[in-house]
Amino acid sequence: MKDCLFCKFVSGEIKTSLVYEDESVIAFRDINPQAAQHILIVPRKHFDNVTKLEDVDRELAAHIFVDVVPTIAKKIGVDESGFRLVINTGKEGGQSVNHLHIHLIGGEPLTNHFGKGV
Ligand code: 5GP
Ligand code: ZN
Repeated sequence: MKDCLFCKFVSGEIKTSLVYEDESVIAFRDINPQAAQHILIVPRKHFDNVTKLEDVDRELAAHIFVDVVPTIAKKIGVDESGFRLVINTGKEGGQSVNHLHIHLIGGEPLTNHFGKGV
C-alpha cells in the first residue's frame, strides 16, 4: 500500500535489520523500545488493523501464533522468562501505524499496562 511505512519495510524500499523473516511475515526491532526486547511482527500483506483479517487469512493468523511468535521468542531468549504480545487497534487502541503488527515485548519484568491514556 502506498505511503504505508511498514509496506516500505516489507518491500525493502526502506532498509531495516530483520530479526526474522519468512514468506508471509517480517519482524524487526521497534525504533522506540518499551522494554529490553521489543520486536514488531509484521505480515507482508497489508491489513489496516487486526479487524481486517478475512477468511483467506486464517492460515496467516495461525502461522503467526503457532510458528512465528514461538520462534522469535526463542531466538531473542524470552521463551522461558515470558513476554507480552500487544496489538494496538484503531485510534482509541493507540495504533499509530496502520499496518497490522504485533508487538512482542519482554526481556525484563513488565509493569501492568492496560490503563487509559497510554
Ligand atoms: P503502534 O503504536 O501502531 O501499535 O506501533 C507502532 C510502532 O512502530 C511504535 O512502537 C513505534 O515505535 C514503531 N515505529 C514507528 N516508526 C518506526 C520506524 O521507522 N522503525 C521502527 N523500527 N519502528 C517504528
Ligand atoms: Zn502496509
